[in-house]
Amino acid sequence: MALRALQTLGETHVTKGLGRLTTGIMTGGQGSYIQFDDGRKLLDFSTGIGVTSLGHCHPKVSKAAADQCMNIVHAQCSIAFHEPYLRLIERLLPVMPHPSLDSFFFWNSGSEAVEAALKMSRIVTGRPNVICMQGGYHGRTYGAMSVTRSKTIYFEGNGALAPGAFSIPYPYWHHFGLSPNTSPAELANMSLYQLKLLLAQSTAPKDTAAIIIETVMGEGGYVPAPPEFLRGVREICDEHGIMLIIDEVQCGFARTGKFWAVEESGVRPDILLSAKGLANGFPLSAIISRKEVTDQLKPGMMGGTYAGNAVSCAAAVAVVDAIKEEKILANVNARSSELFAALKALAAEPDVAPHINEVRGKGLMVGVEFASTTYPLPNAAQAIPKLASLVSAKCLEKGLVLLTTSIYEVVRFIPPLNISEQEMKDGIKVFSDAVREVIQ
Ligand code: PMP
Repeated sequence: MALRALQTLGETHVTKGLGRLTTGIMTGGQGSYIQFDDGRKLLDFSTGIGVTSLGHCHPKVSKAAADQCMNIVHAQCSIAFHEPYLRLIERLLPVMPHPSLDSFFFWNSGSEAVEAALKMSRIVTGRPNVICMQGGYHGRTYGAMSVTRSKTIYFEGNGALAPGAFSIPYPYWHHFGLSPNTSPAELANMSLYQLKLLLAQSTAPKDTAAIIIETVMGEGGYVPAPPEFLRGVREICDEHGIMLIIDEVQCGFARTGKFWAVEESGVRPDILLSAKGLANGFPLSAIISRKEVTDQLKPGMMGGTYAGNAVSCAAAVAVVDAIKEEKILANVNARSSELFAALKALAAEPDVAPHINEVRGKGLMVGVEFASTTYPLPNAAQAIPKLASLVSAKCLEKGLVLLTTSIYEVVRFIPPLNISEQEMKDGIKVFSDAVREVIQ
């Protein structure tokens, strides 16, 4: 069957439950570009939703995985250790955001990591409830879905979710009906106040196992948590023996210009979650905690057929090495400054300004929020509905893959962390032209 005919096969026989940004078949990916069967070569500012952080088919990562394929692919983790599993721990120990984080378990996806963290916190504390954030996203499996509050589409029609999940508003001005220039300190205070109320009115501390937070809220709109909020949550957790689960599935692993986004706040997670960029495209997630916590589990409580796959672990070892050898953090910070400067200049143009609520984010996890008529508080009288989707579609037409996120009109920039200065310039130009054209 020819590739074109396969496209029709896919359109007919793949569930409609899976959305797609564009038609065509991806046939290759190199560095910052993806190749399509119809000849299109697109600049990829999506990195497959924050996964191919070192670009597509990074030579060292692909080689490490290919070499591992010739040794052993499925070295089942409940039979014995395999070398890449242990090498990965060796690499990760020195880059932990806090020295207390010294116990590792690897799984395949971010959702599974969240499941493991929720389960672990309930087992260890003996408490049933968890607190999550309005706007937060943690995955598509049952437990992860139950602590997700970013969009109803993720559970619409599903019926009851797992019990014992309570939420407070993430410190994001929309959540309090405020304006974009509300100070982070004020937002932090408002969310902390809601947390204290929740612990007094809805779930008593002695019933609360964990609080789960994304350091930079991803699917909910690319909103960094103010460091004072994270520190305040840490204090409340310490006071009540509640475990703090920091979900860095999207924002971790050098994405924000630090190895872990939580480093900026100095906060110590009880459980830290990683996935996506961890293995640059190979399915792998990490659940990282303290030995004193994980030693309370009995053998058999954790596991999974494919957990900690040898090829994925070998790829992840190469990723950690490349982040150091290729000075990725320095590149993230340099490219991030260029991106922020360009987006803020664009947002200040007289014709554009009324259509943009905010440019925000950390490192190379940047969101541009357009004024919207769909949800409360449009920031502009003449707000164009669905502006983020229109801009994203226009970018695609011009050769740039740029995803949207959240119920608000947010376009998200998650380019490769090793993106060159020229590629960044090219992407910014396409985006700026697209915005100017769409608002005309
Ligand atoms: N947590 C966060 C913060 C995420 O962004 C995601 C995925 N977008 C997940 C968990 C779930 O990860 P996965 O899709 O690998 O299951």
